[in-house]
Amino acid sequence: METKPLYLTDPYLREMQAEVLEVLPEGPNRWRARLDQTVFYPMGGGQPTDQGRLEWAGAGAKVYQVMLKEGDIWHYLETPEPPATGTMVQGAIDWNRRFQNMRVHTAGHLIDYALYRLGVSPKPLAPTKADHGKKSFVQYSGTVSPALDTAAVEAETNRLIAENLEFSWEFTSLEQLEKDAIYLQPGLPTGKPLRKLTLASIGSVADGGTILRSTGEVGAVKVTRIEEKEGADTVVWYQVQ
Ligand SMILES: [Zn+2]
Repeated sequence: METKPLYLTDPYLREMQAEVLEVLPEGPNRWRARLDQTVFYPMGGGQPTDQGRLEWAGAGAKVYQVMLKEGDIWHYLETPEPPATGTMVQGAIDWNRRFQNMRVHTAGHLIDYALYRLGVSPKPLAPTKADHGKKSFVQYSGTVSPALDTAAVEAETNRLIAENLEFSWEFTSLEQLEKDAIYLQPGLPTGKPLRKLTLASIGSVADGGTILRSTGEVGAVKVTRIEEKEGADTVVWYQVQ
C-alpha cells in the first residue's frame, strides 16, 4: 500500500492521523516508518524535506527527514522506541519551516512565469532544474543575447505578486499535460496521474511540490544574480523577502 500524499491536495494541512505500515531500523535511536497517509513533504523537486513530530500512546518521535524511495514515503524518526506496525500516530509538521519552503518554491515558479511573460521561456530558455532551499535558483538550458536584465526579471516577478493571482491544481495524464502545459520538464513519470498546476490567466505546468494559494503570499522576490554558465545555461539566483 502506497502512502497517500495529503500535501499534494492540501498544502495547508499541518496535521494528520495515520497508521504505521512498516518500521525499519536506521541506526542508534533512529528508524524509518512508512504510513498510510501523510502531510509531510518528502525532499524532492528542489524543495527541502519537511520536519516535525509523530506522537502515539504517550510516546513520540522527532521526524528529522522525509524521503521518497521507489514510490514509498519514509519518515525518518529519532526516538528510543519506535511505534509498532498497526499503531495509529498523530503527525504534525513544523509549519514555519514548511511555509517558508512554500514561499521559496512558489517564487521559483513565479520567476518561470515572469520569463514566460517576458517572452524568453520556454524558448530560447528551457527550464531544466531548480533548488528552493537556502541557495535558491532556477536554471534554464540556453542563453539570450543581450543577457537577461536582473532588474527586469525581478520587476516582472514582483508584478505577478502584486497582481495576487490564484493558483489551482488538478490531477491529469501526461497526454493532457502535453496539450495544456507551457512546457514539460524532462523525466516526468509515466503511467501515473500527474499534477497540473495552473496560475490564473497565465498558464499551466506539471508540478509535485507544495504551492501557495495566491502569488501575494510570496511577499517579495529579490533576484540576486543572473549567471550564464559556460555560455550554455542561464541560472537565475533569487531570495524571498
Ligand atoms: Zn515546483
